[in-house]
Amino acid sequence: MIKKIIFDVDNTLMMFDKQYVECYQEVLKKNNYPCRYEDGLKIYQSIGRYEDTVQRYEREKLLNFINDDLKTSYTLQVIDDLIDIIGNKWINKVDSYLVDILEYLSSKYELNVLTNWFTESQTKRLENVGIAKYFKEIVGSDISDIKPNPNSYLYFTKDALPNECLMIGDRIETDIQGALDVGMHALLYDYKHQYQDTGYDTFIEWQQLKDIL
Ligand SMILES: [Mg+2]
Repeated sequence: MIKKIIFDVDNTLMMFDKQYVECYQEVLKKNNYPCRYEDGLKIYQSIGRYEDTVQRYEREKLLNFINDDLKTSYTLQVIDDLIDIIGNKWINKVDSYLVDILEYLSSKYELNVLTNWFTESQTKRLENVGIAKYFKEIVGSDISDIKPNPNSYLYFTKDALPNECLMIGDRIETDIQGALDVGMHALLYDYKHQYQDTGYDTFIEWQQLKDIL
């Protein structure tokens, strides 16, 4: 029986397209570095490589990684501004159906968040759109490991068995397969209708969860 549901944030609870790159450009501009779209995109891609290489988010480690990777000499202020701007200035609207379903699910299950970024940033984003209150714990990868490291999911098994946990997210590798590998259940948010024949349990619209859960 499922007791806990663990949600991914990006492109699950909050959608984004190019906003990350725009945030990075804004930070570069504020710190007087070249801030073309490509400069922001390079940081976006470098952070992706950081996640593939390292187990935790740490400010100085991330800074050193980006500077080595991109041959830049950014200062720690850039990382601090990234955490701040993503947390405070990036307000995406959330789907009204999502609020409705969180209301429904929170009456039946303990809801949590597991996200690959700094906890402070992600918590503020969820607060800004009014949905942080639904989650018992919001866990970034400065507190737990970066997904799909097994220990990232196992953070939630202090007081529950893996098979009492359900992970919901939009990426097979980091949300679904990683959670299944540690014995959790997993549901893939397939909002682009691209994973219907993959054999994973999927849903396309939030309302469907009322039938499933
Ligand atoms: Mg995601």
